Amino acid sequence: MRDVVIVGAGPAGSHLACGLAKEGLDVLLLEEHAEAGDGVICTGIIGREAYERFSLPEEATIGSLRRVRFYSPSGKTVDYDTGAPLATIVSRKKFDAALAGRAVAAGAELWTGSRVKQVAVDGKGVRLELRRDGGTVLLRARLCVLSTGYGSGLVRQCGFGGPRRRIQGAQAVVPFRDRDHAGIYLGSRFAPNGFGWSVPIGSGLARIGVVTDRQSPRYLRRILNRPDIRSHRAADENGSVQIRACPIPVGTLNETVSDRLMVVGEAAGQVKTTTQGGIYYGLLCAETAAEVAAGAFRAGDLSRAALAPYDMRWRAKLEAELKLGLLIREFYSELSDRQVDRLFDLARIEGVLPMIRKNAHFDWHGPIIRSVLNNGFLGAVVRSTLGIPARMG
Ligand SMILES: Cc1cc2nc3c(=O)[nH]c(=O)nc-3n(C[C@H](O)[C@H](O)[C@H](O)COP(=O)(O)OP(=O)(O)OC[C@H]3O[C@@H](n4cnc5c(N)ncnc54)[C@H](O)[C@@H]3O)c2cc1C
Repeated sequence: MRDVVIVGAGPAGSHLACGLAKEGLDVLLLEEHAEAGDGVICTGIIGREAYERFSLPEEATIGSLRRVRFYSPSGKTVDYDTGAPLATIVSRKKFDAALAGRAVAAGAELWTGSRVKQVAVDGKGVRLELRRDGGTVLLRARLCVLSTGYGSGLVRQCGFGGPRRRIQGAQAVVPFRDRDHAGIYLGSRFAPNGFGWSVPIGSGLARIGVVTDRQSPRYLRRILNRPDIRSHRAADENGSVQIRACPIPVGTLNETVSDRLMVVGEAAGQVKTTTQGGIYYGLLCAETAAEVAAGAFRAGDLSRAALAPYDMRWRAKLEAELKLGLLIREFYSELSDRQVDRLFDLARIEGVLPMIRKNAHFDWHGPIIRSVLNNGFLGAVVRSTLGIPARMG
């Protein structure tokens, strides 16, 4: 019997596998694809805080995000530039492979091409059934962690339910003449209740994507045909752009532990509720999961009660941020395109962008939201423009 079987070698699963293997546990990491990092749909933007905190693999870096141009629904623009890199852009294939490699170097075993079909807890442990090399393999483990990303049936199969809501992401990688800034696109024509983006990644390519509450491929096609994007797309492109789409959770599971089971990463809804970035939050929660699981093994108790501190601790780290993000998301979905346009006018008031630059943080959005709303003059202008009641924050 294995100590721990982790299902899914994305960033969260691999980081957890590394942490638990370093504790001397017998860890098996299972990945359905032929290699970790295959089949991922992601823009690969990770804030510097995450890079520094986890010494993330620099060899996966393909660029950095320095300047962003925001486009309003009617086409007004606001440029955001701090003079320093805002975030790192990675190749997810290299990034995921490097993190899985760290887990293996720490002593975990990695089985790729292994798709877990069933997970069931009984009196003696966890029983897993998987497909591997064309056959069925049965495994037993003392603890099983689901880090499958969003959409795996295993999370529901194990009785964890699902997040309250989901939205859709879509992305295409297209030939693109270099540009010195990324673009963010707002408005109901391009990204209802969400936003679109274009991120040049060097080598004559850009990742262009959208998150929206419906029909993300359709809205992505509109973004791809915007004049400011068209003018940068390579002239010899034959028009057959491959668009890949997938659902993204909004909100977390009600519970992320039960007897001998834990859920980590996007599978648990540990994703920013503002931008839907999930890599950093998944790594933070994997770190907490490793600490709690290692302690539970030392105590010889893998019950739900013994694993519950994981649930409590990651919520203590993230929940206020996630809830504020949900409030802002709901509030944003009520705004008309005209109101969003007015916000762009407000951003041009002298002193506003410097204040945003001072308080904005790539991974933690609560402080900037509170500082705008609680700033005497600016808060009053934003509230009266948008009709926000009294004080918030
Ligand atoms: C269009 C788009 C753009 C994004 N851009 C960003 C971004 O720029 N920055 C950011 O931080 N986040 C971004 N995200 C979100 C980010 O990709 C995810 O939050 C992140 O990958 C979650 O990591 P994870 O380890 O929890 O899960 P995943 O990365 O999804 O890894 C889960 C792994 O489990 C494997 N798996 C699933 N089921 C099984 C099974 N039954 N058996 C075996 N293996 C299984 C999968 O193959 C996969 O390798 C984006 C998402 C989308 C849709």
